[in-house]
Amino acid sequence: MTLRTAEETAARELLRENFILTSLETVLGWARSNSLWPLTSGLACCAIEMMSAAAGRFDLARFGYEVFRPSPRQADLLITAGTLTWKMAPVLKRLYEQMPEPKWVIAMGSCASTGGPFADSYSVVPGVDYVIPVDVYVPGCPPRPEALIDGILQLKAKIAKPQLTRGVVRYGR
Ligand code: SF4
Repeated sequence: MTLRTAEETAARELLRENFILTSLETVLGWARSNSLWPLTSGLACCAIEMMSAAAGRFDLARFGYEVFRPSPRQADLLITAGTLTWKMAPVLKRLYEQMPEPKWVIAMGSCASTGGPFADSYSVVPGVDYVIPVDVYVPGCPPRPEALIDGILQLKAKIAKPQLTRGVVRYGR
C-alpha cells in the first residue's frame, strides 16, 4: 500500500466515523416527532382519560409529551377529546388556526372520530374532521389512557416518516 493510498483510507475512515449523511426532512421529522407540545383543551368525558394519560399512573412524561401548553400559540398538537357540538365548532377551529405550523390533530374517542352515540343528533358534529384535518383517530368510548398514548406514538411515527402516510386526507367530507 502506498503512502497516498494509506492516507486516503485513513481519511475515508475518519469521515465515516464522524459524519452522518441524511436529509433535512429526516432531521426535521426526527426533531418534531420527539417534541410534541399538546394544547390544554378538552371537549367532554374523553378529556378525563386524556388527563389520566398525563398523570403519574400512565405517565405520558415517559415519552416526553407531557408539557401541555395553555395557549394555542405554544402548542403543536390538538387532542380533540370528547363530543364536538356545532356551537363549539367555530371555537375549536379558531384554536386550531391559532396554532403555528407545523401542527397535528388527534381525534380521541368515538365522538371526536364519528359523533359516537350522538352521531344522529342535530347538535353534534359527526366527526371533528368536518371542521379541521385529523392525523390520527383513537377509537373507544372512552379510549383508555394507554390507547391515547398509543395514538400519540402512531402520530410520532407519522411525523418522523411523512412520506409513508402522504395522501390520507379525510378533511371536509
Ligand atoms: S366517546 Fe364516549 S367517553 Fe368520549 S366524549 Fe363521547 S360519550 Fe364521552
